Amino acid sequence: MSDILETVYQGQPETPCLDHGFVRLVDVMPRVLPDGESSCDYAIAEAARTSYKKGTQRVRSDRDLIRYLMRHRHSTPFEMVEFKFHCKMPIFVARQWIRHRTASVNEQSARYSQMTDEFYLPELENVRTQSQINKQCSDGQLPEGLAQQILDELKEYNEQTYQAYQNYLKEGMAREQARMILPNNVYTEWYWKIDLHNLLHFLALRCDPHAQQEIRVYADAMVELITPVVPLTMEAWNTYHPLRNAITLTGLEVEALKDYLSSQDNPAPPAIDSTNKREQAEWNDKARQLGFSI
Ligand SMILES: Cc1cc2nc3c(=O)[nH]c(=O)nc-3n(C[C@H](O)[C@H](O)[C@H](O)COP(=O)(O)OP(=O)(O)OC[C@H]3O[C@@H](n4cnc5c(N)ncnc54)[C@H](O)[C@@H]3O)c2cc1C
Repeated sequence: MSDILETVYQGQPETPCLDHGFVRLVDVMPRVLPDGESSCDYAIAEAARTSYKKGTQRVRSDRDLIRYLMRHRHSTPFEMVEFKFHCKMPIFVARQWIRHRTASVNEQSARYSQMTDEFYLPELENVRTQSQINKQCSDGQLPEGLAQQILDELKEYNEQTYQAYQNYLKEGMAREQARMILPNNVYTEWYWKIDLHNLLHFLALRCDPHAQQEIRVYADAMVELITPVVPLTMEAWNTYHPLRNAITLTGLEVEALKDYLSSQDNPAPPAIDSTNKREQAEWNDKARQLGFSI
């Protein structure tokens, strides 16, 4: 028996995120691996095999099975693995993060404890301009002089508001109300526990370029942290998830492609780079839908 955290994360420090934040993998379920297993992928494959009532019999490799499950959105086996993280992030990042409802969360209480004077400020080269294409995104860099001026102003404002917070507390105001003065770039922290199926949903949305850069930093760090724990799953996720390297075609796009292909002289059906017969058959089905004659 080996402990996955000992095996993979001995001495693992917090992964720094933004200027004062971090994400730390606290625990994994299953934490203890049976002899001969080197990752938690085994728990996913093992759960999936109960579908066939064959228990421990390995009719195909864990890798093939996990890739099949991922392609076919057979998702419950991925819920057999759970992760617990300790995370520290600005409140505006926490607000986006908390929208993911399937996690268990325990956050620092600003009623019980004082908030610390840690406020997020972006790096000078990361003060961004508003995107003209996507109304909720940023895409450029503010000129350096202006960016510096705004950062200086923000820093001064953060110091002033924290001083006011301290004054309110000294004057006897309740912590739960004094915090009203603090801006939403102040840091908070929480413990966050989630199963792998829902974590992958979170990561797909929050690693995506449409997500705000400040939350992407955390999502990217989590991908790095969990990959050694479930390497086969992460490989399959990267290959088959439409927000990673796969593409889902809409009905309209399929029709457009069919029209295009029908105007060519018998274009050869493209082959996928896989020796897996089942996967090849699945592609052949899609290729036929796209108008290739196979
Ligand atoms: C780029 C981006 C921009 C966004 N912009 C906005 C915005 O402008 N305004 C805004 O309010 N939000 C915004 N959001 C948040 C978004 O709308 C979702 O609330 C968030 O991404 C959580 O997604 P989810 O509900 O799928 O995830 P989770 O809450 O983690 O749920 C996972 C899955 O569980 C199921 N589920 C969970 N709870 C329920 C339920 N009560 N009923 C039915 N099914 C459930 C659903 O299948 C869901 O997909 C944005 C998100 C992203 C990634």
